[in-house]
Amino acid sequence: MPVPLIAGNWKMNGVAADLDEARALAESLAAQPSVARVALCPPATLVERMARAVAGSPVLIGGQDCHAETNGPFTGDTAAGMLADAGATLVIVGHSERRATYGESDGSVAAKAHAAVAAGLEPIICVGETLEQRREGLALSVVTSQVDGSLPRAIGDAPFAVAYEPVWAIGTGLTPSVAEIEEVHVTIRAALVEALGEAGLRAPILYGGSVKPANAAEILSAKEVGGALVGGASLKAADFLAIVRAL
Ligand code: PEP
Repeated sequence: MPVPLIAGNWKMNGVAADLDEARALAESLAAQPSVARVALCPPATLVERMARAVAGSPVLIGGQDCHAETNGPFTGDTAAGMLADAGATLVIVGHSERRATYGESDGSVAAKAHAAVAAGLEPIICVGETLEQRREGLALSVVTSQVDGSLPRAIGDAPFAVAYEPVWAIGTGLTPSVAEIEEVHVTIRAALVEALGEAGLRAPILYGGSVKPANAAEILSAKEVGGALVGGASLKAADFLAIVRAL
Protein backbone atom coordinates (compact mmCIF):
# COMPACT_ATOMS: atom_id res chain seq x y z
CA MET A 1 0.00 0.00 0.00
CA PRO A 2 1.34 3.47 -0.83
CA VAL A 3 2.04 5.81 2.09
CA PRO A 4 -1.14 7.88 2.59
CA LEU A 5 -1.09 11.55 1.64
CA ILE A 6 -3.27 14.23 3.23
CA ALA A 7 -3.03 17.47 1.27
CA GLY A 8 -4.66 20.80 2.02
CA ASN A 9 -5.74 23.02 -0.87
CA TRP A 10 -5.93 26.62 0.30
CA LYS A 11 -7.30 27.73 -3.10
CA MET A 12 -7.28 31.57 -3.42
CA ASN A 13 -7.07 32.09 0.32
CA GLY A 14 -4.24 33.19 2.55
CA VAL A 15 -1.85 36.07 3.16
CA ALA A 16 1.29 36.32 5.27
CA ALA A 17 -0.69 36.48 8.54
CA ASP A 18 -2.13 33.02 7.81
CA LEU A 19 1.31 31.41 7.86
CA ASP A 20 0.75 30.95 11.59
CA GLU A 21 -1.68 28.14 10.69
CA ALA A 22 1.07 26.39 8.72
CA ARG A 23 3.49 26.92 11.62
CA ALA A 24 1.01 25.42 14.10
CA LEU A 25 0.54 22.38 11.83
CA ALA A 26 4.31 21.98 11.46
CA GLU A 27 4.92 22.20 15.21
CA SER A 28 2.28 19.60 15.99
CA LEU A 29 3.53 17.16 13.35
CA ALA A 30 7.14 17.67 14.37
CA ALA A 31 6.18 16.80 17.97
CA GLN A 32 3.92 13.90 16.98
CA PRO A 33 4.52 12.64 13.44
CA SER A 34 1.66 11.23 11.38
CA VAL A 35 1.66 7.91 9.52
CA ALA A 36 0.64 9.98 6.50
CA ARG A 37 2.60 12.44 4.44
CA VAL A 38 1.02 15.84 5.06
CA ALA A 39 1.08 18.71 2.58
CA LEU A 40 -0.26 22.24 2.28
CA CYS A 41 -0.86 23.83 -1.12
CA PRO A 42 -1.10 27.60 -0.62
CA PRO A 43 -1.56 30.21 -3.36
CA ALA A 44 1.60 30.76 -5.44
CA THR A 45 2.37 33.99 -3.56
CA LEU A 46 2.85 32.04 -0.33
CA VAL A 47 4.70 28.95 -1.57
CA GLU A 48 8.17 30.20 -0.76
CA ARG A 49 7.25 31.82 2.57
CA MET A 50 5.27 28.79 3.69
CA ALA A 51 8.13 26.46 2.72
CA ARG A 52 10.42 28.57 4.92
CA ALA A 53 7.85 28.65 7.74
CA VAL A 54 7.60 24.84 7.94
CA ALA A 55 11.24 24.04 7.10
CA GLY A 56 12.59 21.19 9.23
CA SER A 57 9.09 19.80 9.92
CA PRO A 58 7.35 16.91 8.11
CA VAL A 59 4.98 19.34 6.31
CA LEU A 60 5.37 19.29 2.52
CA ILE A 61 4.47 22.23 0.30
CA GLY A 62 2.63 22.05 -3.00
CA GLY A 63 1.43 24.38 -5.73
CA GLN A 64 -2.19 24.45 -6.91
CA ASP A 65 -1.48 24.41 -10.64
CA CYS A 66 1.44 24.70 -13.04
CA HIS A 67 1.94 25.52 -16.69
CA ALA A 68 2.93 22.77 -19.11
CA GLU A 69 5.84 24.84 -20.49
CA THR A 70 9.05 25.54 -18.60
CA ASN A 71 9.04 29.29 -19.33
CA GLY A 72 7.90 31.83 -21.92
CA PRO A 73 5.16 34.31 -22.80
CA PHE A 74 2.43 32.99 -20.49
CA THR A 75 1.43 36.04 -18.45
CA GLY A 76 0.16 35.18 -15.00
CA ASP A 77 1.15 31.52 -15.13
CA THR A 78 3.66 29.62 -13.01
CA ALA A 79 5.99 26.91 -14.30
CA ALA A 80 6.50 23.70 -12.36
CA GLY A 81 10.22 24.46 -12.07
CA MET A 82 9.39 27.82 -10.47
CA LEU A 83 7.29 26.08 -7.81
CA ALA A 84 10.13 23.64 -7.16
CA ASP A 85 12.54 26.57 -6.96
CA ALA A 86 10.26 28.19 -4.36
CA GLY A 87 10.31 25.07 -2.17
CA ALA A 88 7.35 23.00 -3.40
CA THR A 89 7.64 19.25 -3.82
CA LEU A 90 4.09 18.59 -5.08
CA VAL A 91 1.55 20.28 -7.32
CA ILE A 92 -2.19 19.82 -7.83
CA VAL A 93 -3.14 19.53 -11.52
CA GLY A 94 -6.58 19.29 -13.12
CA HIS A 95 -8.59 20.53 -10.14
CA SER A 96 -12.24 20.68 -11.20
CA GLU A 97 -12.32 24.43 -10.54
CA ARG A 98 -9.60 24.86 -13.17
CA ARG A 99 -11.18 22.34 -15.54
CA ALA A 100 -14.49 24.29 -15.27
CA THR A 101 -13.18 27.88 -15.17
CA TYR A 102 -10.31 27.60 -17.64
CA GLY A 103 -11.58 24.76 -19.79
CA GLU A 104 -8.64 22.50 -18.99
CA SER A 105 -8.90 19.25 -20.92
CA ASP A 106 -7.52 15.86 -19.93
CA GLY A 107 -4.76 16.46 -22.50
CA SER A 108 -3.67 19.74 -20.90
CA VAL A 109 -3.80 18.15 -17.44
CA ALA A 110 -1.55 15.31 -18.69
CA ALA A 111 0.86 17.89 -20.12
CA LYS A 112 0.95 19.73 -16.79
CA ALA A 113 1.51 16.48 -14.89
CA HIS A 114 4.33 15.67 -17.30
CA ALA A 115 5.89 19.11 -16.69
CA ALA A 116 5.55 18.59 -12.94
CA VAL A 117 7.39 15.27 -13.08
CA ALA A 118 10.08 16.78 -15.31
CA ALA A 119 10.61 19.50 -12.68
CA GLY A 120 10.89 16.92 -9.89
CA LEU A 121 7.43 17.61 -8.44
CA GLU A 122 4.86 14.98 -7.50
CA PRO A 123 1.62 15.76 -9.34
CA ILE A 124 -1.73 15.22 -7.62
CA ILE A 125 -3.94 14.54 -10.63
CA CYS A 126 -7.59 15.41 -9.95
CA VAL A 127 -10.59 13.70 -11.51
CA GLY A 128 -14.29 13.61 -10.68
CA GLU A 129 -17.77 13.59 -12.14
CA THR A 130 -20.45 16.31 -12.05
CA LEU A 131 -23.78 15.74 -10.32
CA GLU A 132 -25.49 15.44 -13.70
CA GLN A 133 -23.02 12.75 -14.80
CA ARG A 134 -23.55 10.83 -11.55
CA ARG A 135 -27.33 11.02 -11.92
CA GLU A 136 -27.01 9.67 -15.46
CA GLY A 137 -25.00 6.69 -14.17
CA LEU A 138 -21.82 7.93 -15.85
CA ALA A 139 -19.59 8.45 -12.79
CA LEU A 140 -17.38 5.40 -13.33
CA SER A 141 -16.96 5.88 -17.07
CA VAL A 142 -16.24 9.62 -16.73
CA VAL A 143 -13.63 9.06 -14.03
CA THR A 144 -11.99 6.17 -15.92
CA SER A 145 -11.71 8.27 -19.04
CA GLN A 146 -10.32 11.26 -17.08
CA VAL A 147 -7.67 9.05 -15.44
CA ASP A 148 -6.74 7.57 -18.79
CA GLY A 149 -6.51 10.97 -20.48
CA SER A 150 -4.87 12.92 -17.66
CA LEU A 151 -2.03 10.52 -16.86
CA PRO A 152 1.28 11.15 -18.61
CA ARG A 153 2.26 7.80 -20.10
CA ALA A 154 5.97 8.44 -19.64
CA ILE A 155 5.60 8.80 -15.88
CA GLY A 156 8.20 6.06 -15.30
CA ASP A 157 9.13 5.65 -11.65
CA ALA A 158 8.17 9.18 -10.69
CA PRO A 159 5.86 9.56 -7.69
CA PHE A 160 2.32 10.78 -8.36
CA ALA A 161 -1.09 10.71 -6.70
CA VAL A 162 -4.64 10.76 -8.02
CA ALA A 163 -7.42 12.65 -6.24
CA TYR A 164 -11.04 11.61 -6.75
CA GLU A 165 -13.09 14.74 -6.19
CA PRO A 166 -16.74 14.51 -7.20
CA VAL A 167 -17.44 18.05 -8.44
CA TRP A 168 -20.76 18.15 -6.58
CA ALA A 169 -19.07 17.41 -3.24
CA ILE A 170 -16.49 20.21 -3.39
CA GLY A 171 -17.29 23.03 -0.98
CA THR A 172 -20.94 21.94 -0.70
CA GLY A 173 -20.96 19.91 2.50
CA LEU A 174 -22.28 16.95 0.48
CA THR A 175 -20.28 13.72 0.33
CA PRO A 176 -20.86 10.43 -1.48
CA SER A 177 -21.57 7.38 0.67
CA VAL A 178 -18.58 5.27 1.65
CA ALA A 179 -19.81 2.57 -0.75
CA GLU A 180 -19.87 5.12 -3.60
CA ILE A 181 -16.38 6.36 -2.73
CA GLU A 182 -15.03 2.79 -2.63
CA GLU A 183 -16.64 1.94 -5.96
CA VAL A 184 -14.90 4.86 -7.67
CA HIS A 185 -11.55 4.33 -5.95
CA VAL A 186 -11.48 0.64 -6.90
CA THR A 187 -12.30 1.69 -10.47
CA ILE A 188 -9.48 4.26 -10.48
CA ARG A 189 -7.02 1.65 -9.20
CA ALA A 190 -8.04 -0.67 -12.02
CA ALA A 191 -7.61 2.15 -14.57
CA LEU A 192 -4.13 2.93 -13.20
CA VAL A 193 -3.06 -0.70 -13.40
CA GLU A 194 -4.52 -0.99 -16.91
CA ALA A 195 -2.53 2.08 -18.01
CA LEU A 196 0.74 1.53 -16.13
CA GLY A 197 0.87 -2.11 -15.05
CA GLU A 198 2.55 -2.73 -11.67
CA ALA A 199 3.43 0.97 -11.44
CA GLY A 200 -0.29 1.69 -11.20
CA LEU A 201 -0.29 0.20 -7.70
CA ARG A 202 2.11 2.71 -6.18
CA ALA A 203 0.05 5.92 -6.34
CA PRO A 204 -2.14 6.88 -3.38
CA ILE A 205 -5.72 7.64 -4.44
CA LEU A 206 -6.99 10.56 -2.36
CA TYR A 207 -10.63 11.39 -1.76
CA GLY A 208 -11.60 15.08 -1.89
CA GLY A 209 -14.91 16.87 -1.38
CA SER A 210 -16.18 18.26 1.94
CA VAL A 211 -13.80 16.21 4.10
CA LYS A 212 -13.96 17.52 7.65
CA PRO A 213 -12.99 16.29 11.13
CA ALA A 214 -16.43 14.71 11.60
CA ASN A 215 -16.33 12.47 8.51
CA ALA A 216 -12.58 11.96 8.02
CA ALA A 217 -12.17 8.67 9.93
CA GLU A 218 -14.97 6.96 8.03
CA ILE A 219 -13.76 8.18 4.61
CA LEU A 220 -10.09 7.47 5.28
CA SER A 221 -10.81 3.89 6.31
CA ALA A 222 -12.62 3.10 3.04
CA LYS A 223 -11.10 0.62 0.60
CA GLU A 224 -8.48 2.12 -1.76
CA VAL A 225 -8.72 5.53 -0.07
CA GLY A 226 -5.07 6.50 0.39
CA GLY A 227 -5.56 9.93 1.89
CA ALA A 228 -7.51 13.11 1.30
CA LEU A 229 -7.42 16.38 -0.60
CA VAL A 230 -8.99 18.92 1.74
CA GLY A 231 -10.18 22.40 0.80
CA GLY A 232 -12.01 24.55 3.35
CA ALA A 233 -11.08 22.45 6.38
CA SER A 234 -7.36 22.82 5.65
CA LEU A 235 -7.32 26.57 6.32
CA LYS A 236 -7.29 26.16 10.09
CA ALA A 237 -4.53 24.04 11.61
CA ALA A 238 -6.83 22.59 14.28
CA ASP A 239 -9.34 21.26 11.73
CA PHE A 240 -6.70 20.00 9.34
CA LEU A 241 -4.81 18.30 12.18
CA ALA A 242 -8.00 16.59 13.32
CA ILE A 243 -8.34 15.16 9.79
CA VAL A 244 -4.68 14.06 9.75
CA ARG A 245 -5.06 12.46 13.17
CA ALA A 246 -8.16 10.58 12.02
CA LEU A 247 -5.93 8.24 10.02
C1 PEP B 1 -10.97 20.95 -2.97
O1 PEP B 1 -11.04 22.12 -3.31
O2 PEP B 1 -10.12 20.22 -3.49
C2 PEP B 1 -11.90 20.46 -1.95
C3 PEP B 1 -11.96 19.19 -1.74
O3 PEP B 1 -12.64 21.41 -1.27
P1 PEP B 1 -13.57 21.17 0.03
O4 PEP B 1 -12.82 20.25 0.97
O5 PEP B 1 -13.77 22.53 0.61
O6 PEP B 1 -14.83 20.53 -0.45
